[in-house]
Amino acid sequence: MMSEKQPLLKIDELRISFNTYAGKVQAVRGVSLTLHAGEVLAMVGESGCGKSVTAQSILQLNPVPPTVVEGGSITLEGKDLLKYSDAEMRKIRGHEISMIFQDPMTSLNPTTRVGKQITEAILKHQKVSRKEAYSRAVDMLRMVGLSNPEQRMRQYPHEFSGGMRQRAMIAMALVCNPKILIADEPTTALDVTIQSQIVDLLLDLRQKLGTAILIITHDMGVVADIADRVAVMYAGVVVEQGSVRDLFYHPRHPYTWGLLDSIPKLDHSDEPLIPIQGTPPDLLNPPKGCPFAARCDYCMAVCHDHLPEETEAGEGHTVRCWLQHEFAPHVNNRFEREDK
Ligand code: SF4
Repeated sequence: MMSEKQPLLKIDELRISFNTYAGKVQAVRGVSLTLHAGEVLAMVGESGCGKSVTAQSILQLNPVPPTVVEGGSITLEGKDLLKYSDAEMRKIRGHEISMIFQDPMTSLNPTTRVGKQITEAILKHQKVSRKEAYSRAVDMLRMVGLSNPEQRMRQYPHEFSGGMRQRAMIAMALVCNPKILIADEPTTALDVTIQSQIVDLLLDLRQKLGTAILIITHDMGVVADIADRVAVMYAGVVVEQGSVRDLFYHPRHPYTWGLLDSIPKLDHSDEPLIPIQGTPPDLLNPPKGCPFAARCDYCMAVCHDHLPEETEAGEGHTVRCWLQHEFAPHVNNRFEREDK
């Protein structure tokens, strides 16, 4: 029996690499995260920071080879998923944990009617009659906001618009009422209006079904709209983690400041957007010190040689930066704001 405070999902010191002809790419380098029942955790960072690799490792979706899990654990309600066999993982996927992707065609079969796909997903995991499964599929399509669900059941994915396909994919992911939905860049390919509708839909479904959501995004605007907590990743490491309020009102890591500079401001909309200069380090040969050192305006000598420890900046708010050291020079944090 889980205690109330015990997380639903716990990732502890996860390390993943890929064997390539050029050598070993250290894609995930000691990531620790928790996800509690019913909460929305956003993993944010640039392409290649390890967020999707981390998320896919929860369902063992990274191909082996070249993927090697070098260490750590991923526990779902206390059970270590990394020790599960393929057969055991098939029971977890779609039933306890579901995943949706940026491109719905990754999950939807273009050759089969949408209704049949959702009905089969129910029959795979639940002992119900085909008629009951069909009726649940119709209800689910209605719940995700598709009009005329009976008619939609008979259509193929290519007859849907991009936004409708995303809704159908969410319906298929949630139809067995999983405890966790992993959403990998679910709004990236959509236009802004549809993006915001999908974010609203996910929040509405979380409310109705109690599903915890792990959302992967590079978009701080989406984070602000949907997340309860945020993990900022850089070069395979979580550099800052905290509540959405911590990250937007009291961010402490220079990389988080860079991400905030690159989105329209909440209250200074006329300020120019400033992209982060430079590129992330090569993870074939990651730096021994802070991975952000080469791009950081506040870099000190120690940053090049030693990876900073994770330190607490407040309850549930952790930061990996030498600026947090008690003897570090004071830096004016222009993102610090009064709590409203
Ligand atoms: Fe910048 Fe140093 Fe902090 Fe890294 S540890 S973010 S280089 S100040």
